[in-house]
Amino acid sequence: MSALDWKNTVLLDGKAVAAHRRARLASEVLEFRAKSGRAPGLAVILVGDNPASHIYVKNKIKACEEAGIASFHIPLAATVTQEELHKEIEKLNTRNDVDGILVQLPLPKGLNETAALETIAPHKDPDGLTSGNLGLLLAGRKRVAPCTPFGVMKILEHFQIALEGKKAVVVGRSNIVGKPMSLLLQEANATVTMAHSRTKDLASVTREAEIVVVAAGQPRFLGREAFGKGSVVVDVGIHRVPASETLLIGGKKSSICGDVRYEELLGHVQAITPVPGGVGPMTIQMLLENTLTLSKLGASL
Ligand code: NAD
Repeated sequence: MSALDWKNTVLLDGKAVAAHRRARLASEVLEFRAKSGRAPGLAVILVGDNPASHIYVKNKIKACEEAGIASFHIPLAATVTQEELHKEIEKLNTRNDVDGILVQLPLPKGLNETAALETIAPHKDPDGLTSGNLGLLLAGRKRVAPCTPFGVMKILEHFQIALEGKKAVVVGRSNIVGKPMSLLLQEANATVTMAHSRTKDLASVTREAEIVVVAAGQPRFLGREAFGKGSVVVDVGIHRVPASETLLIGGKKSSICGDVRYEELLGHVQAITPVPGGVGPMTIQMLLENTLTLSKLGASL
């Protein structure tokens, strides 16, 4: 294991893993372009003017450019109807230069997100969130896995954290993170327990685990009491801290925090993903990698 050591706890630096993978991806994209005569293409549909979504879309488009992936930005007015949105998606489903379609969430009130996602052809779904792709994952025949849990797996792989036969707990059972995370950990031969908002005495469950992935969306709600000594902790949560409560973590100011009280775990757990700089940078990287995977499948390369 190689990483910054601080009080004997390894920081699982997702930003560094993403940078490392991005360099390799760029050369794989070049290879695809040479063989197929075109760039892999990702279309991003942004409905309305949610400022956070604008930033996410901008970052995704920039990351595409850096990797040599063509991006198509499709802005739609917040007043778009469900039917009009589906028509846009259906047009993209048939375009030969588009390998992946992303509908930036959340959609404005009144639009049905599940119906919109299900309109994406599963073979053009780089988020892996259509029921077709989630079904394949469940059946052990995955095409692409949802980006955030897939990114967690790649961080664990990079730092050579063994999973086979290990006790893992996933906190959270959303379709985007918790459920696919548990399937990926099982696929890697871990023994997986799922915990959620109705789990009784959560800390007694997580304390028994050798690996804990926390994706509950509750700012800083688990601390040292919830983790066994020497365990590995992956903190998926991302929360903006109000300016009045800016945190000082490891001597650094932070306006972003996770689901875990990170500073309490240094020196207690074997390894932990920091927030920011842990799981977040991997999510966008896996989106790009999944887009290339779909491009290759589409071109039968
Ligand atoms: P969600 O709200 O859809 O699901 C949260 C899950 O946590 C639910 O299944 C719920 O049962 C469980 N939960 C809630 N409170 C709990 C509690 N007190 N104890 C135990 N379980 C509890 O959220 P999500 O979309 O899965 O996202 C989870 C977190 O991960 C959020 O903070 C989100 O911002 C973050 N996230 C980060 C990335 C990334 O790229 N790093 C990507 C997606 C989500």
